[in-house]
Amino acid sequence: MSGIRDELDRELNDADRRHLRRCVELAAEALAAGDEPFGSVLVTADGRVRFEDHNHVASGDRTRHPEFAAARWSAAHLTPGERAAATVYTSTEHCPMCATAHGWVGLGRIVYASSSAQLGAWLAEWGAPPPPVRTLPVRELVPGAEVVGPVPGLADEVRELHRRFVERMRRMP
Ligand code: ZN
Repeated sequence: MSGIRDELDRELNDADRRHLRRCVELAAEALAAGDEPFGSVLVTADGRVRFEDHNHVASGDRTRHPEFAAARWSAAHLTPGERAAATVYTSTEHCPMCATAHGWVGLGRIVYASSSAQLGAWLAEWGAPPPPVRTLPVRELVPGAEVVGPVPGLADEVRELHRRFVERMRRMP
């Protein structure tokens, strides 16, 4: 475990951790708004946050993931060079839809707090239904992507948000 932490300390600077922290806040905002707890932030090479959003799938459109929105926003507002140099931070690793959108628009690095594999394991542990789409690691879908995560500590916070979401779904009639 200390080996993983040492590696993360090399790969993640204070700004990375601050942006990831914001993603977890956005995920918490989504949960508070009755939505699924996922949040994402897009940061350009100059360190500016250019886009942030959380899930809006409670609208009934289950494609409204923040990472998908970030990819489409970047295609409309950033040059190919800016996209390649940008970093997308997210509370939980991109799903296949969002990962391929990220790859198609040519965005750069991905940093996530918790992995798709972790989320899958948590859902199984809680006896919650799996997502309708199979999850795959971003690296398998976008072979050229630089991907960093999961981040211990923050992943635990994300786990708690998902746990609360699953509990709420159980209480619904
Ligand atoms: Zn997604």
